[in-house]
Amino acid sequence: MRITVRLDIDLRWARMEVRGCLTEENCRALLPIVRRSFRILQEPNVVIDASSAQHIEIAGIDALERLGISGLEAQSVVGDSAGSCSLIVPEVLPSCPSRFPRPHGSHRFAA
Ligand SMILES: [Zn+2]
Repeated sequence: MRITVRLDIDLRWARMEVRGCLTEENCRALLPIVRRSFRILQEPNVVIDASSAQHIEIAGIDALERLGISGLEAQSVVGDSAGSCSLIVPEVLPSCPSRFPRPHGSHRFAA
């Protein structure tokens, strides 16, 4: 999984672009970045854009929802920092492009 963070110059939003494999195991890596973005931003609006990810596990989306990050625009509390964090995923979740996917977590997809 690779994450690119874009910050608005006026610090009103951040956008995190996720590429590679978003799985149940590695989705938690998004949280510290969301928290840091909330701290930096004047207006804590974060969008996680996974529409270009090569692989998305439904279990990863479920795990993020349990952590307060859902596919709908929602007020989220991530740890002790509050802000708005929404998640963009494609309608059909892409399956792993790796021909022999190893158990995810250690799994890396080389684009
Ligand atoms: Zn994968």
